[in-house]
Amino acid sequence: MIIIEECYSLKSYNTFGLPARARFFAEAGTVEDLRTIVNVFCNDPKPKLILGGGSNLLFTDDFDGVVIFPDLKGNEIISQTPDDVYVKAYAGENWDNFVAYCVSQNWGGLENLSLIPGNVGACPIQNIGAYGVEAKDCIDKVDVINLKNGEIRQFTNAECKFGYRDSIFKREAKDQYIVTAVTFKLSKHPVCQTKYADVNEELKKFPEVNLASIRQAIINIRERKLPAPEKFGNAGSFFKNPVVSMNIFNNIKAEYPNVPSYPVNEHNIKIPAAWLIQTCGWKGKREGNVGTHETQPLVIINYGGATGSEIFGFAQKIQQSVLSQMGIELEMEVNIIS
Ligand SMILES: Cc1cc2nc3c(=O)[nH]c(=O)nc-3n(C[C@H](O)[C@H](O)[C@H](O)COP(=O)(O)OP(=O)(O)OC[C@H]3O[C@@H](n4cnc5c(N)ncnc54)[C@H](O)[C@@H]3O)c2cc1C
Repeated sequence: MIIIEECYSLKSYNTFGLPARARFFAEAGTVEDLRTIVNVFCNDPKPKLILGGGSNLLFTDDFDGVVIFPDLKGNEIISQTPDDVYVKAYAGENWDNFVAYCVSQNWGGLENLSLIPGNVGACPIQNIGAYGVEAKDCIDKVDVINLKNGEIRQFTNAECKFGYRDSIFKREAKDQYIVTAVTFKLSKHPVCQTKYADVNEELKKFPEVNLASIRQAIINIRERKLPAPEKFGNAGSFFKNPVVSMNIFNNIKAEYPNVPSYPVNEHNIKIPAAWLIQTCGWKGKREGNVGTHETQPLVIINYGGATGSEIFGFAQKIQQSVLSQMGIELEMEVNIIS
């Protein structure tokens, strides 16, 4: 079924809870209906936005274009080997429901990505990641529709050019495709990834380590650490963790000997953005209706009634402060939609 609305409120479609409106809002429940929508709008010069759960977006204004909402549901086994199962999940499936389903089948791979908000269709866009696992580790293929001509194609894992919170869909293929489904290769003999100290600590509360206990441990940790968007509007981590040269890192270390870091390669090192933001004095800081979370300064919160441009302005102030104090330019992880 196709639904097309005009001047449509997106308040319940973004986790910041911003009352932005879409000039057009087009929802489709099947791939064929999506292609019809693409054909209707493909020659229209208005900007297009593909919307999932709206958990990685910041609307700074109303969207004077066409919001396309692929409400494709379901999942199916594509093939199996004695070791692996290939499962295709459709774009409109809730991500965490899909993870829960995989865990219930004892298919390993996605359990560390439990409780990440949003839909399956968005997972390859920024290659979601948490607790030592990224979506790319399990993505086999990504099915898409070309927004210009409605053509259907598949991207292999390699063609997606995945990186840290990055993929081809954020770069050379940005705004060109609608993801309709993602096929995951999951293990029938799961190996649990428990290298994170807080996951290990939480797992001590469980009688055994298996996919279900890892999932629950991660849910427990996330519920403790992250603000629920239903309570305080937010989009998770607002900035990426910057990867810097050894020179820059050594300059910071000279002044802050305890700077946390994770080596990337022999020339580069990753510094947690949360540490930079906190060290620059922004932890728990609030200006009007916008602020950073009290325990996780990487999360910017709408305390109620903030506008998108206020939130964006606040984020820019953090960027400028970190740049002038630390010499590091923080990159926004959240997609800014203006
Ligand atoms: C509390 C909280 C915690 C979070 N924790 C994490 C975390 O641990 N790790 C992490 O990686 N992320 C995290 N996020 C960010 C977010 O949940 C993920 O980026 C998620 O994948 C976004 O999914 P979505 O469906 O909400 O996408 P949206 O926000 O709707 O869209 C995000 C981007 O993907 C594009 N897009 C969406 N669907 C499609 C599609 N079908 N086809 C083409 N393009 C599409 C949009 O145009 C946009 O550019 C968190 C967010 C919140 C609010």
